[in-house]
Amino acid sequence: MGAEVMRDEARRPRIGVLALQGAFAEHIAILRRLGVEAVEVRTPAQMEGLDGLILPGGESTTMGLVAERWGLVEPLRAWVHGGKPTWGTCAGMILLADHATGQKQGGQPLIGGLHVTVNRNYFGRQVDSFETTLTVPCFEPDESPAIFIRAPAITELGEDVEPLAELPGPVYVAVRQGPILATAFHPELTPDMRWHALFVEMASRGRGLEN
Ligand code: GLN
Repeated sequence: MGAEVMRDEARRPRIGVLALQGAFAEHIAILRRLGVEAVEVRTPAQMEGLDGLILPGGESTTMGLVAERWGLVEPLRAWVHGGKPTWGTCAGMILLADHATGQKQGGQPLIGGLHVTVNRNYFGRQVDSFETTLTVPCFEPDESPAIFIRAPAITELGEDVEPLAELPGPVYVAVRQGPILATAFHPELTPDMRWHALFVEMASRGRGLEN
């Protein structure tokens, strides 16, 4: 899979990045480098006409509470549960999980839809942040650098969830379930644009561009 820049204006997918908090600007920059139309999403109206939506890394409790205050939780649930292409990175992956462990007291609003259990700060207590090289069998070559920042990990996978990368535990740090992609690390902080290219391809397929 390559990270070719898309040149055909008419076929450019339009991808939104939830911009309430966290690392949204970095995702937008990479999407634009890939030739995609990338927009910041802060209101339900801004979700209209999108081919895909990225929930970025940051702090999932804060992001969930802000989303709740701004009336975004239900529209986000409708989006994900309606089968629209969605990619959650780090905190975004936590929000997409059906179940989360290690949450703050009082819990946090989850969007759900991804049939996994996520441990919110799985790597947090040992090492706050680290960089490693993942083996990603669906990439060629299969090595990919990954930056983990107070990162979660997936400890249980539903039957329909395909693991894309794992670390010793074993725990899963990248998975795909139909139109949903989730990564525990921050692909927007490394030069490897193949995760973004993969999601752009998923979003393009979602609107029938590949037919
Ligand atoms: N563990 C953090 C949380 O609970 C996520 C960290 C991140 O997105 N870099 O939200």
